[in-house]
Amino acid sequence: MAFKDRYDFDSLVNEAEELVVAEIEKQISGYPELCTCSECILDIAAYVLNRVRPRYRVSLLDAIYVDTEERDAYLREIDQAVHDGILKVSTNPPHD
Ligand SMILES: [Zn+2]
Repeated sequence: MAFKDRYDFDSLVNEAEELVVAEIEKQISGYPELCTCSECILDIAAYVLNRVRPRYRVSLLDAIYVDTEERDAYLREIDQAVHDGILKVSTNPPHD
């Protein structure tokens, strides 16, 4: 059995994904001109996820944020990256 099949790596979850998607949904309402097709939204998500620190955990375990100050800083980091991502994709969309 291959190593990768011996363990359930699908249970690794990057919490950044969930937070980034929620933040994109929140912010795009402020950009009525923004194209919200699948290509553009996924492009924004990829841009943001390549810039924020990942937050992997094993999905069976609960999310642990011991330090609320650190969590607030992380949410601000995501907030800013989403803002940048929307501007980047809106001025340079992946399609005509
Ligand atoms: Zn589009």
